[in-house]
Amino acid sequence: MAGEFDLIARHFDWPAPAGTLGVGDDCALLPVASGHRLAITTDLLVEGCHFFSGVDPQALGHKALAVNVSDLAAMGARPLGCLLGLSLPGVDDDWLAGFARGFRALADGVGCPLIGGDTTRSPQGIVISVTAMGEVAVDAELRRSGARPGDDIWVTGTLGAPHVALELLQGRHPSHAALLESLQAMLEWPQPPVAFGTALAGVAHAAIDISDGLLQDLGHVLKASGCAAEIEYSRLPVHERLGVLDAAVVQRAVLNGGDVYQLCFTAAPLAGPVIEALAARHGIRATRVGRVLPGQGVRVSGCPLPLGGDGYAGFDHFG
Ligand SMILES: [Mg+2]
Repeated sequence: MAGEFDLIARHFDWPAPAGTLGVGDDCALLPVASGHRLAITTDLLVEGCHFFSGVDPQALGHKALAVNVSDLAAMGARPLGCLLGLSLPGVDDDWLAGFARGFRALADGVGCPLIGGDTTRSPQGIVISVTAMGEVAVDAELRRSGARPGDDIWVTGTLGAPHVALELLQGRHPSHAALLESLQAMLEWPQPPVAFGTALAGVAHAAIDISDGLLQDLGHVLKASGCAAEIEYSRLPVHERLGVLDAAVVQRAVLNGGDVYQLCFTAAPLAGPVIEALAARHGIRATRVGRVLPGQGVRVSGCPLPLGGDGYAGFDHFG
């Protein structure tokens, strides 16, 4: 792209931490502590598919990185650095400055510096690719296959708000400006509990970040672990502002709503006090919502409305 080097120098040439070689050579160089392995994850965000055209570029920069460090947290990995690929229909310096500001604020906040990337011209629409890397001690990773019968199931943060915000933006509910205003940040500025996730390595047994809905994402953990689960609906941390909505809308948002980027994890009941202490130390809300059982499938007890039918699949990218 014309001006590609200028673009990087203007917006993305940030100092790398000591011991890391960042932007400016053929490759970045990352140190990994001995006894650890590199955890690597990547996500693509496509305009019109994963974000609305015209979304606040600062929020988009934040979210592009947030969805990746959320996966590091779900592995128990400590962030080391990230790569950014940007395909843009043109160079809009105001847009880029906003995007870079949002991206960098989160990168600084969670300790995941930008250490390289690429830019190119796109024939149509914006495409953003972020790859994040972290490190996790061997055998302390929070794999999806680690859940065991008897484990407690925990959820961080709250559920439902991003889904309802998305439905409001899509015009699928009667317009409610005050509600949208109080929920929109939950959709556009997700705050994955990265340091808390890192601290769960070696404490929890299995984890996943909630990107496609609690039931679907927990289902991935249970399938990989060969277990079943029971969730108590009344224990779920429903976002406080959802109380004004119809019970069916809330139930669906809480159980099936995506874009949450909080953690669902399992741990031995004995680890409960340690988890509560870690949550308090990191300022994270962590709620015990159910239990892992032998068998297969998820049962949700105490739902306001019966489960089932076609309304209860999570987000399917090809659906
Ligand atoms: Mg994930």
